Amino acid sequence: MESHAKVAGRFAPSPSGQMHLGNLMCSLLAWLSAKQAGGRIVLRMEDLDTARTKLEYTRQLERDFRLLGLDWDEGGLTDSQPGPYCQSQRTAFYERCLDKLQAQGLVFPCFCSRAELHAASAPHASDGEPVYSGKCRHLTPEQAAEKSKLRAPALRLRVPDEEVSFTDAHYGPQSQNLAQACGDFILRRSDGVFAYQLAVVADDAAMGVTQVVRGRDLLSSTPRQLYLYKLLGLDPPSFAHTPLLLAPDGRRLSKRDRDISLPGLLEAGFTPEDIIGRLAYCAGLLDAPQPMKPAELVPLFSWEKVPLQDICLPKGLFTR
Ligand code: GLU
Repeated sequence: MESHAKVAGRFAPSPSGQMHLGNLMCSLLAWLSAKQAGGRIVLRMEDLDTARTKLEYTRQLERDFRLLGLDWDEGGLTDSQPGPYCQSQRTAFYERCLDKLQAQGLVFPCFCSRAELHAASAPHASDGEPVYSGKCRHLTPEQAAEKSKLRAPALRLRVPDEEVSFTDAHYGPQSQNLAQACGDFILRRSDGVFAYQLAVVADDAAMGVTQVVRGRDLLSSTPRQLYLYKLLGLDPPSFAHTPLLLAPDGRRLSKRDRDISLPGLLEAGFTPEDIIGRLAYCAGLLDAPQPMKPAELVPLFSWEKVPLQDICLPKGLFTR
């Protein structure tokens, strides 16, 4: 990855529920990757969607990270310098970023309903969203003004019919044609909430993040984000995506799975070191599950040990 001088990794959890083991494994890898490079960790709460996030979960996330020894150097609820580090409090900043894109003539209002979007698109982008049909792309200002009387628009970014290529530090070379993979994407929803894609780019750049480590489910969002970095004239970080942790039966973990949430595991008698050691074992860093502190894993960490394929939780590893 990048030079050791100013490495900054980050935790960017969404406080919409309790973290599950997959979130924790990813956070552990982000922490190890930054610490091994002598870097720091920024904690940013991705609570843009205030209808789905809760302050109570935000506090819980901080307690969970601390308990596990996944400490952070900057950010979180109490660190206000040079924050805020909660996205819900950074709207004015996102407005300014949006203005920069608007000034380039790349933003247009879209009046399509969810149903229209789904109906108009056969292929779906890998994140499950429909590929945008381009329906509102060519509305004249007069047509848009007329439609605005009936419905608040979302704001979309025009994307070019071009490949965006990058090298993921774990998954290697990647390439995506934005027009084909997702189409013009949303920067601000019709209810005024800024989209993850814009906020994550603006914030990672503003917070000096130099390496992004996150789940493979966001690999396909990275080209959109790189395009935004380019348009905003910002230096992109390096990206390393992690395999996902799956339940023993192969299904995706969910924040609703109480048995594999941190509080559930602590209640069942696992210590924080038991949990970290088992996660490190799942991630390929240990040959056998044994209690470990994150700091003890720093010398053992390397991306080569981490599998590329998603990891099924071995049956019985987290049950007593
Ligand atoms: N907030 C996102 C999540 O919790 C992560 C976004 C990112 O790492 O870029 O899934």
